[in-house]
Amino acid sequence: MGIDAISIGATTFAFFTRNPRGGMAKTIDSEDVKEFLELSSKNDICKLVAHAPYTLNPCSSDEGLRQYALEMMLDDMKRMEYTPGNYYNFHPGSHTGQGIETGIEEIVNLLDIVLPTATNTTVLLETMAGKGSEVGSRFEELAEIIRRVKDNSHLGVCLDTCHIWDAGYDLHDLDKVFHEFDDVVGLSRLKAIHINDSKNSLGAHKDRHEKIGMGCIGLELLTNVINHEATQNLPFILETPNELNGYKQEIELLRDNYHKN
Ligand code: FE
Ligand code: FE
Ligand code: ZN
Repeated sequence: MGIDAISIGATTFAFFTRNPRGGMAKTIDSEDVKEFLELSSKNDICKLVAHAPYTLNPCSSDEGLRQYALEMMLDDMKRMEYTPGNYYNFHPGSHTGQGIETGIEEIVNLLDIVLPTATNTTVLLETMAGKGSEVGSRFEELAEIIRRVKDNSHLGVCLDTCHIWDAGYDLHDLDKVFHEFDDVVGLSRLKAIHINDSKNSLGAHKDRHEKIGMGCIGLELLTNVINHEATQNLPFILETPNELNGYKQEIELLRDNYHKN
């Protein structure tokens, strides 16, 4: 995975801590870890953004599912500590009919147990598209979670361009979007970007990613995101429907458009 990333010129990458659909993870091999740490320092790999299984639902109305999310995340935190200093991104979850307020409360409860174990890891809340009963499609909801946890020093946000577009944040006025983010959440909390185009129109609440430049956001607006002062020095992760070679081309395309003017 690290070798794939380097072969296509990437300086960061995302990975699932276990099967993205959940379930048990491999035991950590200390030789693998050592090799990985050497490889990353040799190739100037910057911060990595691990992704929790997307099936975890920390604010489900089903207590068993909430407990499962908690256990998986606690185990992931132990794994993350093998490669200190990186990010662990998760979907705040879907309140499944309980309402946003209860959803937020349950996410806070989970984070109050998980965050104290994240000694050398920063946990990131991902901005969501607002599909179904997803929590986190408004900056206010993420801000509320950050405000309420007991210790938020290891808590940040990963902004997904497809998701915020689908949530209704119009990237035509990017200054306004980042202004709003700064007012509500604070730009110092912004730690990573998922750079994706969207198959759907602004505010569609759908969450279907598209290849860069092939969707409703388009190359120009995505170029503005990578060039905006609010995103400089952040890791950018592609989650577009591609194979390795497609990612290579998208990295080249975005690099070509980086600070062009
Ligand atoms: Fe995600
Ligand atoms: Fe994402
Ligand atoms: Zn998505």
